[in-house]
Amino acid sequence: MLTTNPHEDDTLHEECGIFGISGATDAARLVALGLHALQHRGQEAAGITSFDGVEFHTHRAMGHVAGNFDREDIMVPLRGSVACGHVRYSTTGETALRNVQPLYADLASGGFAIAHNGNISNAMRLRRDLVRRGSIFQSTSDTETIIHLVATSNYRTTVDKFIDALKRVEGAYSLIVMTPEGMIACRDPLGIRPLVMGKIDGPDGGSIIFASETVALDVVGATFVRSIDPGELVMVKGTEITSHRPFPQVAARPCIFEYVYFSRPDSISEDRSVYTVRKAIGAQLAIESPVDADLVIPVPDSGTPAALGYAQESGIPFELGIIRSHYVGRTFIQPSDKVRHLGVKLKHNANRALIAGKKIVLIDDSIVRGTTSLKIVEMMREAGAAEVHMRIASPPTRHSCFYGVDTPERAKLLAATKNLEQMADYIKADSLAFISIHGLYKALGEPQRNAIRPSHCDACFTGDYPTSLTDQDDVSSVDQFALLAERVI
Ligand code: AMP
Repeated sequence: MLTTNPHEDDTLHEECGIFGISGATDAARLVALGLHALQHRGQEAAGITSFDGVEFHTHRAMGHVAGNFDREDIMVPLRGSVACGHVRYSTTGETALRNVQPLYADLASGGFAIAHNGNISNAMRLRRDLVRRGSIFQSTSDTETIIHLVATSNYRTTVDKFIDALKRVEGAYSLIVMTPEGMIACRDPLGIRPLVMGKIDGPDGGSIIFASETVALDVVGATFVRSIDPGELVMVKGTEITSHRPFPQVAARPCIFEYVYFSRPDSISEDRSVYTVRKAIGAQLAIESPVDADLVIPVPDSGTPAALGYAQESGIPFELGIIRSHYVGRTFIQPSDKVRHLGVKLKHNANRALIAGKKIVLIDDSIVRGTTSLKIVEMMREAGAAEVHMRIASPPTRHSCFYGVDTPERAKLLAATKNLEQMADYIKADSLAFISIHGLYKALGEPQRNAIRPSHCDACFTGDYPTSLTDQDDVSSVDQFALLAERVI
């Protein structure tokens, strides 16, 4: 069913990685490599679009990059020296493939392909208006809204149409766009989601690359040039690169959760090593919430750097008390709670010989629903741990993300409904502590969180959303209206 309300059949909360390259023989093959390095950002679907100077070619598939984009029958048709790609978590169901990016449309100005990381927080409102005026949507993705805004813009050039479109969207977007005129990369004015530029030197001016994280530059042997600035739009036409700043300048608010969990630890983000930040978070956590324990044990893999930091700061030995199978995806991928529980068991196993009789402190990056923590604590007790203390390398996640990180609705967030003691009871830990919000900023090298001008978006912890949330407000007002109606009845 094609709906005008994207919330009806597919969730809008996506997590994504994007990669684009201009000026490379077999560009699509390099995109496939780049996407492979960004696979942690989205594991349910992937897509690549290439441009050979005349035609655009696209392949989109459910599943991982490997297994799809290493097949010759798929790669050979993706001809051209310009290409971009996307990895995402998507929802299940028969409608999923039409939402897999890059999205493509034939506009009056020519082909237009777009890959998006983030989430547009007024997409539903815009979509309703566009549909009313005759736009026919092919997907339920928020990203398609941008295509329709470009298509219906009165400006003359594609870049101007694109800027016109972006001025009407709110929320988080790092975008890579391909048109016959060239490739455009841009970041929303607050720079909520990351986007970096790299290059590969070559005889004909080499190649320019855009990617969500620096690890994707490493994998193709590119060198890091710089981050795309918040609110900046970079256009690449052959060897010519131009930068545009079409938005009024505002203080940037990149996502702090990229440091906590989302980015790969070997990425460099805003000149900081993600790994080093995670270790610093762990060290700060040890200062704030010490435990008298025999062993520090990471919940692998996401808790590992913070656990190392905790162990080094506290002097308690670091040991691998949980072994992770690398053949299962991230816990979140499983759609139903039932399967998610099973997923946790498949993923982690206790290293019994090490744990029996020990007082342990477990370190994980975050608690969302609490499913992982509960299973892990139970697993440690079954393996004979004398005491199990849990330390979390982020403040309590109390608010949903509307900027492209997959979080469940608020009511399902453990920290939104329970206090610390209730959470500790729920996960059956002897004690539980989270790093403080100021401690998190300390780990980033700041004295504390600046309450008036925070340097990052930390809405998932503080509820301080840096943009308007038009769709959310619309949904709430409909809910309130329904509630009122119910009461009247
Ligand atoms: P939960 O079991 O619901 O409490 O989820 C917490 C676990 O999921 C943590 O161990 C994190 O490593 C991981 N996690 C946190 N946020 C996300 C996210 N947005 N997407 C996927 N995994 C996540």
